[in-house]
Amino acid sequence: MPVGELGDVFGGVEADVPPQLADHLRSIELIDHHVHGTFEKPVDRAGFEAAINEGSTDPVPSFMTQFDSPLGLSIRRWCAPLLGLAPHAEADDYWHRRSELAPDELAGLMLRAAGVSRWIVDTGFKGDLITTPDELTRLSGIPSSSILRLERLAEDLLETGTDPHDFPAAFRSALQDAADSPETLGTKTIAAYRTSFNIDWSRPTDAQVIDHARELAARGAPLRVDSPVLIAFGVYEAADLGLPIQVHVGFGDRDLDLHRTDPLLLLPLLRSMPAVQVLLLHCYPFHRQAGYLAQAFDHVNFDVGLAINYLGVRSTALVAEALETAPFAKQLYSSDAFGPPELHLLGSVLWRRAMGLALGGWVNTGDCTEQDAIRIVDMIGVHNANRVYAL
Ligand SMILES: [Zn+2]
Repeated sequence: MPVGELGDVFGGVEADVPPQLADHLRSIELIDHHVHGTFEKPVDRAGFEAAINEGSTDPVPSFMTQFDSPLGLSIRRWCAPLLGLAPHAEADDYWHRRSELAPDELAGLMLRAAGVSRWIVDTGFKGDLITTPDELTRLSGIPSSSILRLERLAEDLLETGTDPHDFPAAFRSALQDAADSPETLGTKTIAAYRTSFNIDWSRPTDAQVIDHARELAARGAPLRVDSPVLIAFGVYEAADLGLPIQVHVGFGDRDLDLHRTDPLLLLPLLRSMPAVQVLLLHCYPFHRQAGYLAQAFDHVNFDVGLAINYLGVRSTALVAEALETAPFAKQLYSSDAFGPPELHLLGSVLWRRAMGLALGGWVNTGDCTEQDAIRIVDMIGVHNANRVYAL
């Protein structure tokens, strides 16, 4: 197989996906509304395998390889052909071939094959290891926008010497700059990692915020916002400016208490905050709760990014479950890829395949028309992101 040829994303399931829907899913250019950069430097095999394990923060143990996972199988199935290997190439052969390519070459190949029209990039995590939005655009030829992390903004302000007394005003002014910038499309909170969701979500006073900023600043750099007051403050301030707010929900590494990131714990916040666009990210295994919230609140939207990659072939079931309760206008596509560009590609391939199989099933049983299915693909893949982020 020549280098750079992905093959048909409906290979093996041609009979299950109606032809017009399949054609549409092959060609639609997606908006990846939550994604990170690619690795800037070469990684060794241990680093690569650690980067395809979301939950653990330890090296992959010697008795196993992370290729023996649904994600590993999907990498061998879908990424091997792009490197000129046969589908399902053995893990060692994949690794050997991959190692011959420089990070930029690899990223160029995989990013361009993802069929994306815009990356909306979260720049808040391990920014020194991965490409910036501009670099992502250079490597892929695809425009990028960015998302501002609220906790990172608070930490940056206090680490660069903002007096805690001036912190509320400084935070507001930085958010206003973000709101005025055409590159910044919204904000994000990682409350899931810092406090979990079962906190007091009432709006704090400036006096409370100053107290908590003072306590945090006194700890010395590097600062780590873990105060419910500062987190709630950031969310309400972003909402006041009408900035969309992404919320990490569910699936992540073991630093978070997964059981305390059920989005239903956000009900007090969703009921009391200004009705700006809220984007619940990832959501697995709480994607059904997220779908319910998207039905219950006009301003709530969700995605099942990240989990699509990690569920591999089983992402078909996940995508089908995500189509259960939420109006189709309330769901978005994302890969949540971080590091290996395989993840930027696979999110797109697996989503197309899963949507084809899930919606194709509905068409085949007469539950909707092929045109309905195509319209749903357009909404989730492109139109909803255009609306939510006012693109
Ligand atoms: Zn992410």
